[in-house]
Parts: sequence; C-alpha cells; structure tokens
Amino acid sequence: MSFIDRAARSVLLSELIQGMALTLRYMFRPKVTLNYPYEKGPLSPRFRGEHALRRYPNGEERCIACKLCEAICPAQAITIEAEPRADGSRRTSRYDIDMTKCIFCGFCEEACPVDAIVEGPNFEFATETREELMYDKQKLLENGERWETELSERLTADAPYR
Ligand code: SF4
Ligand code: SF4
Repeated sequence: MSFIDRAARSVLLSELIQGMALTLRYMFRPKVTLNYPYEKGPLSPRFRGEHALRRYPNGEERCIACKLCEAICPAQAITIEAEPRADGSRRTSRYDIDMTKCIFCGFCEEACPVDAIVEGPNFEFATETREELMYDKQKLLENGERWETELSERLTADAPYR
C-alpha cells in the first residue's frame, strides 16, 4: 500500500467506518450466543450425561443384576453385587458408579437389555468433593425418578436407530 493510500485511509477514517458498519450489521442479526445458564442449547437424544437407574411404571426396578454393564465398562467404574429376593427374582444389593473414572462412553447403556442404566440429559452435576461423585444405587434410582420423563422421551426418539 502506497504512502498516499495509507494517508487517505487515516484522514478519512475509512477502516474505522468499515468496522463500525460491520458492528452495526451484526447488531440486527440473530444472536449466536446463549445466556447460559438461563438459556440452553438443544441436546441430542444420544447426549451422554449423568447416569440414572430407571424403574418400570409400577415402581419395580428394571435392573435384573445381569452385570453386563459392569463387564463392558472399559473404565471399570461400575461395581455390582446381587442377591435373590424372597420371591426368587434377582436384584442388585449394591450398584455403584465411580463417576471420577467414568469416561461417558455409553457402553453400559448399550449393553443393558432392559434399559435400566441410562445416561441422561443432565450435565450440571459438578461437585466440590470427589466423594460426591461416588454414586450408589440410591442416588442412581433418585436420578431415574427425577429424570424419567426426559429419559423415556429420549429413548423413544432414539429407538428407530438402535
Ligand atoms: S459410560 Fe462407559 S465408562 Fe461410564 S460407567 Fe458406562 S460403560 Fe463405564
Ligand atoms: S443395569 Fe442393565 S446391564 Fe447393568 S446389571 Fe442391571 S440389567 Fe444388567
């Protein structure tokens, strides 16, 4: 750029005006940013967030203690103990997930034959201590009760592709 060009741009403030025009143009376009946490973006039905254990509509636990999820977990984050109930059915007496080990691969959900263990849409479960990320069966069942509506909707939406 010649000296005369540079001088003319400086005197006429053309670069400043171009920048202001660009700003003005974007002021009237739809915003691409979100005011998180008051606004949230859409999540895929396959989003792999916090784990939950689901129940059937009659309140019975879905999990049949087959331990497929424990066997397939590449991070060895799941610990299950099982024992038969008085009625002969098999259920877990312990179901723990160490969320500090979990890599959110979704294999546990894929392996489960009864859609008991699922990864839900919740990604806001940060804690202040490691101990709070050691989930037990009670915590997982509570997550299932809290998110059941969203969980069943997600499973229904994803069913044609499974
Ligand atoms: S999401 Fe993957 S790493 Fe996490 S508990 Fe399930 S199988 Fe294990
Ligand atoms: S959560 Fe599913 S895969 Fe895991 S033990 Fe229970 S029934 Fe089996």
